[in-house]
Amino acid sequence: MYDYDPAFDQPCICDVCGGDVEADACVCEPCPVCGEAGNPHCYSEHGMVLTSLQKETLAKNEKVWADVREQERAMCADWIDDKLRTDKLLDSGR
Ligand SMILES: [Zn+2]
Ligand SMILES: [Zn+2]
Repeated sequence: MYDYDPAFDQPCICDVCGGDVEADACVCEPCPVCGEAGNPHCYSEHGMVLTSLQKETLAKNEKVWADVREQERAMCADWIDDKLRTDKLLDSGR
């Protein structure tokens, strides 16, 4: 079974600015056409334009995500190292 951390499955992250909607970190304005905020569709179909605040917020959030991914990769590499070492020890013990 695939062990997936639900903390990284984040439906409350805004698709447009990357802000946490539940934490009120979304900086998107509501769309004048459909009234939705943070819907990428409004930017391609309803003529909304990204503000510099949205771009800044997205850039900041992307950096955070990149850091998280980097940490996960590092942790994973450590784990594989450990595993290889353990396997080797088991092998030599046989
Ligand atoms: Zn947003
Ligand atoms: Zn819209």
